[in-house]
Amino acid sequence: MPAFRDRGADPFGVMVSTVLSQRTRDEVTERVAGRLLAVYPTASALATAPRDRVVGLIREVGLAESKANGLQATAGILAKDYCGKLPRVESELIQLPLIGRKTAKAILVFGYGIPAIPTDIHIHRVANRLGVVTTKSAEETSLALEKVVPKKYWHLLNPALVQHGQNICTALNPKCAGCPIRNHCSRIGVQQHMYSGTIRKSGWL
Ligand code: SF4
Repeated sequence: MPAFRDRGADPFGVMVSTVLSQRTRDEVTERVAGRLLAVYPTASALATAPRDRVVGLIREVGLAESKANGLQATAGILAKDYCGKLPRVESELIQLPLIGRKTAKAILVFGYGIPAIPTDIHIHRVANRLGVVTTKSAEETSLALEKVVPKKYWHLLNPALVQHGQNICTALNPKCAGCPIRNHCSRIGVQQHMYSGTIRKSGWL
């Protein structure tokens, strides 16, 4: 499980891990986030840390220098304007440096337990292949999922669909033959109809 999902009840840790995770493999994110948060566990500690030390601690992740700048800028704002805490509202979170909608939703759901659907490229791909949504971007997918999925299940979607997208419904060569939800997948429905010729006869494609 990526580091940011394992930092429940620690919104600051979720924020740091999610920012570090961008363009970085999960195992590297987990290692680097743990290292950084062990030394600077709070907003005020990170805000006042020597920049070279922060860059050194996170050098393993992609775009380390800009992430260090963004994290320290965010930590400074939190320490100054929010008593060191992250806001609990998406519209306020996305005003902070390096925090987009996905990170804001991750902070809400994994840090505060507030229903939200942080949507990455895996969720976007899987939801579209399943036929649950028809969208062109992860952000659109997030909004579309919020409309069709009952709120009581929102907290489950990210862990379930990211795991599924990383391990089974991969971008290239999805493992459809062994997929446990193939009977619910519109992609399989289309393939079966193509084999049987139904689609050509019906003019669906
Ligand atoms: S059947 Fe294939 S395309 Fe559909 S969800 Fe499973 S792996 Fe993905």
